Amino acid sequence: MSENNEFSFENPQYRKTYWHTCSHVMAQAVKRLWPEVKLAIGPSIDNGFYYDFDAPFNFTQENLDAIEAEMRKICKEKLKLERFELPREEAIKYMQEKDEPYKVELINDLPEDAHISFYTQGEFTDLCAGPHLDSTGRIKGNAIKLTQCCGAYWRGDSKRKMLQRIYAVAFPKKEELDQYLAEQAEALKRDHNKLGRELEYFTTVDVIGQGLPVLLPKGARVVQLMQRWVEDTEQQRGYLLTKTPLMAKRELYKISGHWDHYLDGMFVLGDPHDETKECFALRPMTCPFQYQVFLNRARSYRDLPMRLGETSTLFRNEDSGEMHGLIRVRQFTISEGHIILRPDQLEEEFRHCLELAKYCLETVGLLEDCTFRFSQWDPNNTEKYIGTPEQWDEAQGIMGKILDHLGIKYTIGIDEAAFYGPKLDIQYKNVFGKEDTLVTIQIDQLLAEQFDMSYIDQHGQKVRPYIIHRTPPGCYERTLAYLIAKYAGALPTWLSPTQVALLPLADRHLDYVNEIKKALEQRGVRVMVDDRNEKINKKIRDSQMEKIPYMLVIGDRDVENGTVSVRSRKDGDLGAMAPADFYANLTEEIATRAR
Ligand SMILES: [Zn+2]
Ligand SMILES: [Zn+2]
Repeated sequence: MSENNEFSFENPQYRKTYWHTCSHVMAQAVKRLWPEVKLAIGPSIDNGFYYDFDAPFNFTQENLDAIEAEMRKICKEKLKLERFELPREEAIKYMQEKDEPYKVELINDLPEDAHISFYTQGEFTDLCAGPHLDSTGRIKGNAIKLTQCCGAYWRGDSKRKMLQRIYAVAFPKKEELDQYLAEQAEALKRDHNKLGRELEYFTTVDVIGQGLPVLLPKGARVVQLMQRWVEDTEQQRGYLLTKTPLMAKRELYKISGHWDHYLDGMFVLGDPHDETKECFALRPMTCPFQYQVFLNRARSYRDLPMRLGETSTLFRNEDSGEMHGLIRVRQFTISEGHIILRPDQLEEEFRHCLELAKYCLETVGLLEDCTFRFSQWDPNNTEKYIGTPEQWDEAQGIMGKILDHLGIKYTIGIDEAAFYGPKLDIQYKNVFGKEDTLVTIQIDQLLAEQFDMSYIDQHGQKVRPYIIHRTPPGCYERTLAYLIAKYAGALPTWLSPTQVALLPLADRHLDYVNEIKKALEQRGVRVMVDDRNEKINKKIRDSQMEKIPYMLVIGDRDVENGTVSVRSRKDGDLGAMAPADFYANLTEEIATRAR
């Protein structure tokens, strides 16, 4: 089958329909096995589908196996799916009679003029907008796998009941399922949320809270290394450093529009609705703070472009259920910058930002897994955004032209813009195949207007500047997570928390080992000495587990000859060499940030 075929699994639309039909089969199987279980919702997702159930017991692995077996049976029965509609009152009555309270609630929440449709297959009927395959016989029963069962709040609301969500995948061929499961198992070994904890990069602590990871010394070191490097790189590229507060009064966010468009996403200190008292909020973005630097005095066209950079800690109030390791967090640190510029500088500065982002991603090794997305507003959902349709058309037109001029291949994301302007998003595909936004570059004039920013041009006229909002590597916590997964914990030498492990064979080698240690430290290398009273093989194994790039095993012969015996994580045993040669190679590798 070709990729363009409507009924090909390669076609995302067909794949969605396939998986969604599978979710009905799952619900039917559960109802056959346990009629008392109540049904919630069952959508297709990026990697398969799920169904949320309200059951009076917890699903066990045996239960999941039984559901899978029943699903295979339903596929073999080749049940036809038939659609019908009911008026609202009858639809509610229908689901009340079936004793499905979640479905009744869903129907009640549908808009007044909605068509309320149902799909029937055999004895089973579900509330659903469709579309679906025409028969359960189209699903390959032995290529379905229930992958996971976990708790999920009804409607994602922690005040509502906790339901059980069963995740699953399905493919048209058994071999495709097997291949997918093998890939997932491999990815799981690299999962930052597992590996990053095992290697002690980070941890999370219940009493601190969800989405607030604690960086342990190793993770903190990697983040520091990236921050220093980005700050130095920005300095070389003409950025001015700023250091602005982590919070501000409500009034600042009223000017920026965050109060009206982003309040739910902010941590507010005080009662947001009591206007008689001072109320603060932690910052979700650096923009309104950094603008104050520009506003500090009158500006002329000669001051522009003004490139401002800051290693900025930000706070976003997101749902506890969404939190995940270092990737979905409530507090994170990012190199946020704003370039305030004249219209004639827009393309040049945009190119600079893009080059900087590409340089950073290329250096750490993530660029090869990135794609570009031009994120636009949604003209049918205007209340989410500030500005007029004309202003949006203009900003998006300018950005589109720049992207085309720079030859960027991008997809378009509708309703993915920031509330104040369109963005170029650099999307990263992680080891599980899931996509996240890693970097954004945005063009904006609306916030410049909100803050009444202006400069005097060559003709003595007061003019509104443009602003580019940008990040070069994305937030550091998330970048660290991707690096742990990408390198399976074996980070490039320049980013490794410990770069060299010194392993003396016996205590009598310690003096010599300490000399080597000092020489390495003087060269800025991060070293550890394993002086435990352990067998050398155990010391080597432990250093390997720690993914340390180099081990120097020191014995009698090294002390006598003044050499070091080098084992490289990448290339294995390199034999004995003069310390000076090892230092030279190592410092070269670090200085060039080799991967
Ligand atoms: Zn459906
Ligand atoms: Zn910004």
